[in-house]
Amino acid sequence: MLSDPRSHGLWEKTAPPAPIAPPLEGAQAADVVIVGGGYTGLSAALHLAEAGSRVIVLEAVDFGFGGAGRNVGLINAGMWVMPDDLPGILGPVFGERLLDLLGNAPRLVMELIEKHDIACELAKNGTLHCAVGDDGLKEIEARAKQWSARGAPVTLLDAAETARRVGGNAYAGSLLDMRAGTLQPLAYARGLAHAVAKAGATLHAGSPVVSTTQNGNRWTVTTPRGEVAADWIIVATDAYSTGPWEKVRAEQVHLPYFNFATVPLGDNLGRSILPGREGVWDTKEILSSFRMDDAGRLVFGSVGALRNTGLAVHRAWAKRSLKKLFPQIGAVEFESEWYGKIGMTDNALPRLHKFAQNVVGFSGYNGRGIAPGTVFGKTLADHILDRLSEAEMPLPVTTPQEPSFRALKEIWYEAGAQVAHFADARF
Ligand SMILES: Cc1cc2nc3c(=O)[nH]c(=O)nc-3n(C[C@H](O)[C@H](O)[C@H](O)COP(=O)(O)OP(=O)(O)OC[C@H]3O[C@@H](n4cnc5c(N)ncnc54)[C@H](O)[C@@H]3O)c2cc1C
Repeated sequence: MLSDPRSHGLWEKTAPPAPIAPPLEGAQAADVVIVGGGYTGLSAALHLAEAGSRVIVLEAVDFGFGGAGRNVGLINAGMWVMPDDLPGILGPVFGERLLDLLGNAPRLVMELIEKHDIACELAKNGTLHCAVGDDGLKEIEARAKQWSARGAPVTLLDAAETARRVGGNAYAGSLLDMRAGTLQPLAYARGLAHAVAKAGATLHAGSPVVSTTQNGNRWTVTTPRGEVAADWIIVATDAYSTGPWEKVRAEQVHLPYFNFATVPLGDNLGRSILPGREGVWDTKEILSSFRMDDAGRLVFGSVGALRNTGLAVHRAWAKRSLKKLFPQIGAVEFESEWYGKIGMTDNALPRLHKFAQNVVGFSGYNGRGIAPGTVFGKTLADHILDRLSEAEMPLPVTTPQEPSFRALKEIWYEAGAQVAHFADARF
């Protein structure tokens, strides 16, 4: 995408093409105009179009251009926040509602993939949250206890079973979550876009919304070459927001996250590393993640931006870390490398915003947007279809607030990850 090999990396090489979606031209009308062609916007579009609404989706660049085309592909259940802490943060009503919705969100992703026959390397094999040291073990034990008490299919695995499943003995144990899984993230986004087109909605790529105006009860959104008048606007632009919803971006601290993909590992290594094809992330503060793709490439990621000195530092660290994690791996060769920005909020929870009458959106998924984006898109559709009132939404409506020292925190995240990986590679 955009001829930048470090924007979408492996996913761009192996995803089927997006539907043809020429830029918006002239004046058009719809019931709902959706701004942003990632999981949130496309899921909203799909559910609205299937219910008979006239929908136009406007994507600034291309479907999956944002986080949807760059991520690790872990279909997680729930958020970072401990399940038992959520009701304390959001209050019991929203807390329990959000837990229930996000705990079950991977199921919606898997159902949509199956219903719409989306070829996106779906693996329903669970994820392993791997514990680093005693602190990590305590964290996953608490998570296991809290999710189990809510009836979730999670299992605590000891160090030996974790080593067998991972293919290396770096971890003190792990939490296996069978609600979760992995997919090819850009293929999922593009598959959703095809399903949206099939359901009768109109898709326009290369169509950044630059302004909005209100005319009575209707809204008009304007792109460089056209405009759409609609009753509702869904804002689904998240961390890649441009144009009138810059405040969505300004509410978040951006955390850069990179991935390296090896060449296909071959049968022997493929049988020893993640033989069960779970997705993995660890409990470190500067976390790492890894998973296999269908061709047997190991995709390994962590915090950092692949630019300037970061490129060499993170690449060297990734090679060294893979050799430590998997001594059997031999010489490590990377076939693709890419990175993106994760939108973090101050309490690590997503946001529901009502920007004006009939202008709504979810954002701020803190690096966990595949299942939440999909389920929140459906939630917005249900709200617009009068199936879910504002009081019944999974989050309270809030106004975007810029966190203090945002710019400094972003510099610190990028520089701090380089320092940590530079030091870790040498000592
Ligand atoms: C490197 C990385 C790793 C991650 N790993 C995971 C993971 O393993 N699991 C997980 O669940 N989540 C992960 N995430 C998070 C996940 O990718 C996001 O939360 C998710 O993509 C958010 O979906 P979205 O549809 O809301 O936004 P996006 O996918 O970011 O889509 C927003 C779209 O809006 C468009 N846009 C912006 N402004 C305008 C405008 N003015 N007009 C028109 N269009 C506009 C953008 O071009 C973009 O395509 C990761 C993110 C990154 C960057």
